[in-house]
Amino acid sequence: MRNVYFDNNATTQPAPEVLEAMQPFFREWWGNPSSMHAFGGRVRGHVEEARARVAALIGAEPSEIVFTSCGTESDNAAIRGVFEAQGEKWPVITSRVEHPAVHGPCCRLKERGARVTEIGVDGSGQLDLNRLADALRGGPAVVSMMWANNETGVIFPIQQIGEMVRAAGGVFHTDAVQAVGKIPVDVRQTPVDLLSLSGHKLHAPKGVGALYIRKGVKFKPFMLGGHQEDNRRAGTENVPYIVGLGKACEMAAAHREEDMRRVAALRDRLEAGILTTCPDTRVNGDRKNRLPNTLNISFEFIEGESILYSLSDVGVAASSGSACTSGSLEPSHVLRAMGVPFTAVHGSVRFSLSRYNTQEEVDYTLEQLPPIIHRLRALSPFVENP
Ligand code: PLP
Repeated sequence: MRNVYFDNNATTQPAPEVLEAMQPFFREWWGNPSSMHAFGGRVRGHVEEARARVAALIGAEPSEIVFTSCGTESDNAAIRGVFEAQGEKWPVITSRVEHPAVHGPCCRLKERGARVTEIGVDGSGQLDLNRLADALRGGPAVVSMMWANNETGVIFPIQQIGEMVRAAGGVFHTDAVQAVGKIPVDVRQTPVDLLSLSGHKLHAPKGVGALYIRKGVKFKPFMLGGHQEDNRRAGTENVPYIVGLGKACEMAAAHREEDMRRVAALRDRLEAGILTTCPDTRVNGDRKNRLPNTLNISFEFIEGESILYSLSDVGVAASSGSACTSGSLEPSHVLRAMGVPFTAVHGSVRFSLSRYNTQEEVDYTLEQLPPIIHRLRALSPFVENP
């Protein structure tokens, strides 16, 4: 059977070059980078090289990069770290379409007494900037807004948001887990103060991430213990994975533009093919401001899960909604926030591509999908079938 993987916003295949770069750090160079002896010293240099590579991909200084265990940890550390550093006094502003890794810590701060405002989005998934301006009128705030949405791929106007937060004297964190490696991300040009990224979304393995903290931004670490990561994240460094993340970032910096041009063409071919062969379908999210690899599409009157099972039977892996909430049949909070009609929310499927996908895989999917949709619609209680 075919093996077509279109679920790259959930996780990506680790690049062979990344796995190769990691190997020596399991077998030979397994020392603790904080040790004073040569075992440690050799390893420390590679951790710092990885830090420089991560920094280069996003235009940061190496000293502004803190290694973490994943995107979720980066998000939690950023939001709590800034809130606590400001004496737990500032309000928190976020959006209604964030990943649970941001929504969760914001809810926790609300339980601790913080005033939390969630800004809504319009039908295309774009942030309501007027509402953000209103919320910022209250003075400085901890603001956390995603760079790109994991479900729809919609890209928020990060430059504008950052300028607004800065003018209000607040601190701006962005969850760029889905953006880094797919679109240009440059913290020299963009007024963001903290930024989260995750290894397994850009062809490094699961279990490593990074948090960018702009020099001078007040931050209280929540992982307490040793003095690693310049006192910003305690715990002995996960050296092989950090080296892997560094390699993945180096590869992204070198090939992102070319890879994503090709990926966008494949995504557009898939989108056009589905729209012409499957009636009653709609693309969810702002098609002009969207990640090049993501297609979120609703097949009216059918359950997205039924489509996913049928696709899986013919060897095609896609997803409905966010990877972290799949498994639950809760309708997507992102599509609901966009006001997508009930019948379309339930029939939504996300295809997310990577540099390892091919045109042949797209064409195979376009052959398999229309009969699946036709068969499921014939069974649908919402459609008047003859
Ligand atoms: N933020 C976004 C936008 C994501 O898509 C994800 C993962 O799906 C995360 C955060 C969490 O990242 P991790 O899986 O590395 O914890």
